[in-house]
Amino acid sequence: MSSPHVLLLGAPGAGKGTQSKRIADRFGVDHITTGDALRNNKEMDISELGFEYDTPGGFMDAGELVPDEVVNEIVVTALGNADGFVLDGYPRNIEQAEFLDDRTALDAVVRLGVSDDKLIDRLTGRRVCPSCGVNYHVEFDQPEETGICDECGTDLEQREDDTEETVRERLRVFAENTEPVIEYYRDSDAYVEIDGEGSPDEVWEQVEAAIEARNP
Ligand code: AMP
Repeated sequence: MSSPHVLLLGAPGAGKGTQSKRIADRFGVDHITTGDALRNNKEMDISELGFEYDTPGGFMDAGELVPDEVVNEIVVTALGNADGFVLDGYPRNIEQAEFLDDRTALDAVVRLGVSDDKLIDRLTGRRVCPSCGVNYHVEFDQPEETGICDECGTDLEQREDDTEETVRERLRVFAENTEPVIEYYRDSDAYVEIDGEGSPDEVWEQVEAAIEARNP
């Protein structure tokens, strides 16, 4: 089995982050996530590009997509260093999908489907550890001590874009820009749709099997 090239598609809150980590561990591939890369570079000066905001953070806090010029650059660098990979949060529009197509082939394109109501509950209740990156939920996945990370004892935080208003905007942007990306891949042999509403373990069983079947 060679190192698979995996793309994970799904709305914000569909579980891409959780499943990507498992894919990276199980198949020994790089986890390439544009959301994390941009969060680490929120204050980068992109004023010379002449867009509405001067930093990636401006777009992110508004729930909008960061310009392709910025995001594509991150992905090119990450792909150059990777043998196998799981891409999480990219491509988010057709232009990014075409850009990716010109650079690499994909073995598995896994779509995680979750209803909007469930996505809103998951995202607005999500709490993250700023130190080790573990996710919790105020209702469905509480840490042992409220507000404290089980793994490293750091105070948990709510992501700035996980407020209800921004979440609704992110879901609207997803429907407008990223639903067409799903159509772009739907007819390919690599494409598989998985019900993302089960527990992380239930979803993982199907994700793992789908990748194994496409990367024998
Ligand atoms: P995520 O953590 O994947 O939900 O991404 C958080 C935010 O980062 C998004 O709401 C966008 O503002 C930005 N972002 C992440 N990935 C991309 C991408 N592929 N294209 C444009 N913006 C992105």
